[in-house]
Amino acid sequence: MKVTEIEVLDTDLSGRDGMQSWRIVLARVHTDEGITGLGEAAMAYGTGAPAVGPMILSLGERFVLGADPFHTDSIWETMLRRSLWAEAGGSVIFAAMSAIETALWDIKGRALGQPVHRLLGSATPAPLRCYASQLDLGWGENGRSLGSAEQYLDVATRVRAAGYDCVKVNPIKSDEEGKRATGRHGLFTPKQRDFIRKRMEAVREGLGSGADIIVELNSMTSTAAALQVAELVQDLGVIFIEEPTHPTSDHAHLKMSRRSPVPLATGERLYTRWGFLPYLEAGAVDMIQPDVCITGGIGEAYRIAHLAHTFDVGVQAHVCGSPLATAIALQFEASIPNFVIHEHHAMALRPANRELFEEELQPTAGKFEVPTKPGFGMTLRREAEAAMSKVSVKLSDK
Ligand code: MG
Repeated sequence: MKVTEIEVLDTDLSGRDGMQSWRIVLARVHTDEGITGLGEAAMAYGTGAPAVGPMILSLGERFVLGADPFHTDSIWETMLRRSLWAEAGGSVIFAAMSAIETALWDIKGRALGQPVHRLLGSATPAPLRCYASQLDLGWGENGRSLGSAEQYLDVATRVRAAGYDCVKVNPIKSDEEGKRATGRHGLFTPKQRDFIRKRMEAVREGLGSGADIIVELNSMTSTAAALQVAELVQDLGVIFIEEPTHPTSDHAHLKMSRRSPVPLATGERLYTRWGFLPYLEAGAVDMIQPDVCITGGIGEAYRIAHLAHTFDVGVQAHVCGSPLATAIALQFEASIPNFVIHEHHAMALRPANRELFEEELQPTAGKFEVPTKPGFGMTLRREAEAAMSKVSVKLSDK
């Protein structure tokens, strides 16, 4: 089998259903045997998605057209070594490599009639525990960023009633009106600390007992301010603080981990084994959160998970993309020995995002069934595809 065409499918859903900035970029790889695979670049949020499509085409044209799609590791290593820039890191190039590599795994699964986790040697696990992620963005079909402590109480109560026994919430991102807060990098004032505490008490009250909390800081805080938050929330049943400090500073993370009364999680903006190793070696992280669709793809995420396993560190795949990204994360998490919990993001509830694919991937009572259809088992909806812009490189044009 050989790769004959690599297509980029791109759709900008920004402004729909409460998604401020949301642009999905997919790679579809075609083969001479008629089997195709779909992969995703994890750049739906933030700024950067427009750059990833051209990168997929550049890498694809040079290193993937004509290759055997079963050779996922060989192709990946070639992209890493021969592109020159990938060895130096960067979100755009690794998102592009991830999109291509995950599409190749989809082809392998479809060709062999097996879900990806079985190709990686794992039995299908019992449904995975998952948490409701980013309650602060609003939980539901038309979310809006939360403001008052009462709103935090309301959303936590609803999510608990829906069966979740773990949630993630950012208590500092928005002000009391729900507008994006600024000036989060210095120390928090006593007034700000009171407000953070009120919001987190409201979340705990809404959840009641028997449920865990992850506090998200999105790297908005300095190390000193993150420590203030850790001290404020330590008695509220918080199991992790996520991205407490600069996302690529293992030094700041180590400093934080030495003094934080709450365990730490990070990794959604790190790439490859080389990116995670300093955190693991320093003992600066308690759970890693690689995103399969930006850290390098299935193969590299699997290697990162096993690297973490040697340091007795657990894994939660970061996932914030289309339903395909959810399917990819589930296959990865089902295949590793140190899985901790699955992230179900607020954006996974928004209709404009859900309706991209025919399959409806949602948990039941806080648990996620791992799909067992071949590959990632996802089918792009015909109407959704018709609204996407498409551009490709073909072997016949080379
Ligand atoms: Mg995060």
